[in-house]
Amino acid sequence: MKRIGLVAHDEMKDEMVAFAQTHRDRLGAFTLFGTGTTGGRVSEGTGLSVTLLKSGPRGGDAQLGAMICEGQLDALIFFVDPLTALPHDVDVKALVRLATLYDIPLAVNRSTAEAVLASL
Ligand code: PGA
Repeated sequence: MKRIGLVAHDEMKDEMVAFAQTHRDRLGAFTLFGTGTTGGRVSEGTGLSVTLLKSGPRGGDAQLGAMICEGQLDALIFFVDPLTALPHDVDVKALVRLATLYDIPLAVNRSTAEAVLASL
């Protein structure tokens, strides 16, 4: 089963839940990992099983980055907030950098996430 990481910044969490509800059946075909709050919201909103990592600002983004380095993640859906400065910006950049470096599909907004999901 392919593995997808899910992350959404605070202002984007409702959008992530809506996305997951719309694509619930499709997402159910994957093993899902999420940063703590995002993963919890997706799991509550859809009933899907999501392995919860640390909250993003407490290391969850770094955990996903490590999974990418280890070949343990096949795609990353990362709804970034383009309008808010974040305390863990360095971790956000590192995660995007690692997804780029290891060439895994990376969606940073909903329309791309739909395209990625359709292609996996
Ligand atoms: P969270 O982390 O899902 O625990 O809120 C996301 C983030 O990196 O802000």
